[in-house]
Amino acid sequence: MRRLLIKADDFRTFPSIRWLNFIRFCIDRSLPITAGLIGKSLESNRVCKELIKLVYSSKNIELWNHGYEHNGWPGEKHVSEFFRVPENDQYEALAKTQYLAREVLGVQLRAFGPPFNKFDSKSLRAVGQFSEIEYLFDVGFCPGFKTIPSSFYVECDGRAAGNKFNYELAQKRAKPFLERNGCFVLQIHPGNHWDEQSLVEFGRFIDYCEREGVKTCGLDEFFIASIS
Ligand SMILES: [Zn+2]
Repeated sequence: MRRLLIKADDFRTFPSIRWLNFIRFCIDRSLPITAGLIGKSLESNRVCKELIKLVYSSKNIELWNHGYEHNGWPGEKHVSEFFRVPENDQYEALAKTQYLAREVLGVQLRAFGPPFNKFDSKSLRAVGQFSEIEYLFDVGFCPGFKTIPSSFYVECDGRAAGNKFNYELAQKRAKPFLERNGCFVLQIHPGNHWDEQSLVEFGRFIDYCEREGVKTCGLDEFFIASIS
């Protein structure tokens, strides 16, 4: 069963032409996506109503908990607020984002993925206190959770690709999964550094996946396909 899960990280609710274009594109193509919400952005008075309206009105967008600050714990650059910091602080970061999503967007977040894909054993204990969180990204195995480990990831907009979506790289990295007839996760950051060409290349990659018989789906369908 060929399935694709689109995991779009670093969703901040600030005005962003990149996120607007990406979400509009996905809505036009009826593509289900999952987007990692950074909770703190919902506390700002710069929240973009248009963006929120799009997310709110689309049944194809599922937000998940991507932490509260994302910038790393004070004094620690690019470390993650879920790595080597006290369990209670990790719990608070998770709780604030769960709360803000519920209060501001009316959305119950069902999944967690740590910033910079970095977490520790305390993160797993902290996230275990949220009965509504069913899914964990980046984690290989954790009792009581449905996990989607990073071994499923196809990354193609990292530093090596100049932080832009690179069609050739995506195709090359997706190939081993397709050869195994498997499922994979497209791990992307459309709001960070993508330009217009990135969206064109992303569209080309979606066309390629569709020609290869890959169905883009949401979390539940992906998880079932990935374990069967
Ligand atoms: Zn991130």
